[in-house]
Order: sequence, then structure tokens, then C-alpha cells
Amino acid sequence: MIDFEKALEIVLGSAAPLPVEEAAADQALGRALAEAVDSPCDVPPAANSAMDGICVRAADVANARGDAPCALRVQGTIAAGDPADEALREGWTFKIMTGAPIPPGADAVIPVEVLRFEGDQVFVSSPVKSGAEIRPAGADVRAGQRVFDAGTSITSAHIGVFASIGRTTVPVRRRARVAVMATGSELVNADEEAPAGKIRNSNGPALCAAIRKAGADAIDFGIIRDDRASIESALAAAMKRADAIVSSGGVSVGEFDFVKEALAKSGVDILFEKVAQKPGKPMAFGRRGPIAFFGLPGNPAASLVCFEIYVRAYLRTIMGHAAAHRPHAYGRFAETVRKKPGRAHFVRVLVEPSPEGYTLRPAGDQGSGLLRPMALGRHLALLPKDADSVGPETPVKFFFLDAEA
Ligand code: AMP
Ligand code: MG
Repeated sequence: MIDFEKALEIVLGSAAPLPVEEAAADQALGRALAEAVDSPCDVPPAANSAMDGICVRAADVANARGDAPCALRVQGTIAAGDPADEALREGWTFKIMTGAPIPPGADAVIPVEVLRFEGDQVFVSSPVKSGAEIRPAGADVRAGQRVFDAGTSITSAHIGVFASIGRTTVPVRRRARVAVMATGSELVNADEEAPAGKIRNSNGPALCAAIRKAGADAIDFGIIRDDRASIESALAAAMKRADAIVSSGGVSVGEFDFVKEALAKSGVDILFEKVAQKPGKPMAFGRRGPIAFFGLPGNPAASLVCFEIYVRAYLRTIMGHAAAHRPHAYGRFAETVRKKPGRAHFVRVLVEPSPEGYTLRPAGDQGSGLLRPMALGRHLALLPKDADSVGPETPVKFFFLDAEA
């Protein structure tokens, strides 16, 4: 039995990046940049007004005061999208709108709210600093600047920046293809009745959804019976199509737990098969060439917890994300939680934020067969292996299961 940190090191240490492809920049949400992106241009491309108002030479209104306002003559109006080819004359002003280009000669903008208009004149009652309310060219991005590094996970804001610099495609890594097989002769599909002795397959749909949420493609192999031939033939078929194979069930010590045997027979090198963690002790991991094999336990909470810790981090890594893991923070349990030393515990918790910090509570019974607490408490608290209890005085690390890093 190995510690979960070691197990994770083995899994991620074996992760090799998938090939690079160009993706339409506006379709690349959730993927990772395979190469750094530099900007060919300034954003914004030209200095423009941050307010609706007038643009001036700051020197022209240097002596403006409430009891002695400066009068400026209006030379014209510049709207967003207009060219600004006419220079501002001394002692004059242009009305200017937000986003409109600053004409030559002007060096400050005064917002409309503090102005008084009379005929074709404007009265300014206080001086303004050169540069006021002007967004200079390149304020957001400068030409030649490194905008984002390789490994960046692409969000809506990144897609906006790509558009602003005129990037229509970006290099990303191919989506991982992940085969999912739910082993167990007791399993039936969700749309079937579950007669005595049978249970509906919940791991298959949950794992497929988790794979898609991680940005990979799921290939659902459905339910696989607990016999050697069925498991071996499913494995052989999956190996032809998948970068990773995720099974649930059949990795424990029961008389019909044939998955590890089938793996060995299929040429998979098993790198570990027991981890000092709860839930998820009987988890197995192996490789054959570039293909990774995750033998997750059948108990539904164990299966999804192991997916979160190992499979998701692995998939994110081969798809090029610099941040493999879910974001985390620290919180304190409202009440002492007891555990046996010897295994790290991943507790499904409810998290309540407050100005004093996060308060954690177990989201129901922590039995590894119970999935609903994981649906209710979308956070996973990590209790150290050697602890026998964790009280409200101890900060506890927890992961946000619905946040992407
Ligand atoms: P196993 O790891 O195969 O010994 O399974 C452990 C427990 O998880 C058993 O009670 C199984 O019935 C249950 N189980 C296994 N696979 C699934 C599945 N796909 N959906 C729901 N429960 C499952
Ligand atoms: Mg089983």
C-alpha cells in the first residue's frame, strides 16, 4: 500500500502531453494553450477617451477655477469609431465620447458631468492633469508582448483577449479520449428495473460526465460482466481507441474481481494497486505504452473521489493544463471529525464561507458506497494520514470540486 502523494506522483510522472492542434480561438473554452501567445499589436490600438465629455489641452485650462471658469469653443464632436485626423486648436475643445480616438493636440478628457455648455462654448471650472481619462494605446496589451504562457487554461476572458489581438486560432493539445467501463455482473442500466441482487450502474454515467467536464472525450463501453473474457475483450477494444481507460469495480479481493488479472494478461504494467486513502483503497494504476489504465473501485463515492484526485489531474496534464488540480483553500471543521490513523481521508464536505474563513461540515455519511453526499457537498477535505481526529482548531485543506484551475 502506498501513500496517496506517492500514487499521484506515479500517475502524473507518467503523463506525456498529447499532440498539438490548432483550434478556433472562440471555440477553445476550457482547453489549454500548447504554446505561448504573443501580441502582434497594441490593445487598444489608439489612445481613446475613457469618458463621455470633452478633450482639451490641459495647459488651456490650467487656470480654471469655480469663480473664474475657462471658456473653450467647441471645434466639433468625435464619436466612437470616428477617425481623429483634425488636430485640436489652442483654446478649443472637441466633444468626445467614450472609446472615441483622442485627436492630435489633446492630452486630457473632462467628463460631461462637471461641464457647463452655453451655445458653442463650454465652461471648465477646474484644471485637469495631462493624461486624465485617456486610455493610452497598448494600455491592455502592447505589440510584441507575451500575453499568455503555454499551459494557460482558456476562459471566456482569454477568448476576449484573443479576439482583441486578432488571433482567430490558437494551438491546443488534442482532447484526451477516455474509455469508461463499469464492471459488475450486478449492474443494470438506468432505464432498467433493478430486480433483487441487481443495482443500477451509476459509475458509468458519473465518470463519463466527469471526463467531459474535464475537457476530454468519453467513450462509454457500458456495463461489463465479471468474467475474464468480457473484461479482456473490452480492454482490447478500448486500447485501440483510448489514451486512457477508466474502469470501475472488480479491483478488490473478491472472488470475481478479475480486472487486475485481465490487465496483466493484456500487457498492462501495474504500477500500484492499493493506496493508503479512504475512500479508494483498492485503486489500481497501470500503463501499456502511451495508454494509462485507472482501475477505480466500484463503490460510487470511491470511484468519483479517485477520479477527481488522479484521473482528472492526469487528463488535464496530458491535455497541457499547467494547473492539474482543482483549486483549494483552507477551512476549519465546525465539530471534531474522528478517523483511524493510517489512511488519508477525503471527506465530502459542505463549505460555508464567512469573513472569518471557511467552515466545513461532512456532507452526510462518509460510506464509500454513498454518492449523494458528494452531490450535496461539492468540496473534498483532505484529512492527514496519521491524524486520529481533526478539531475546529486545525486548518484543513479542501478542494473546490466545481472550480476549474
Ligand atoms: P467492487 O469494487 O466491484 O467490489 O464493487 C464495490 C461495490 O460497488 C459493490 O457494492 C458494487 O455493487 C458497487 N458498484 C460497483 N460498480 C458500480 C457501478 N457502476 N454503479 C454503482 N455501484 C457499483
Ligand atoms: Mg464488482
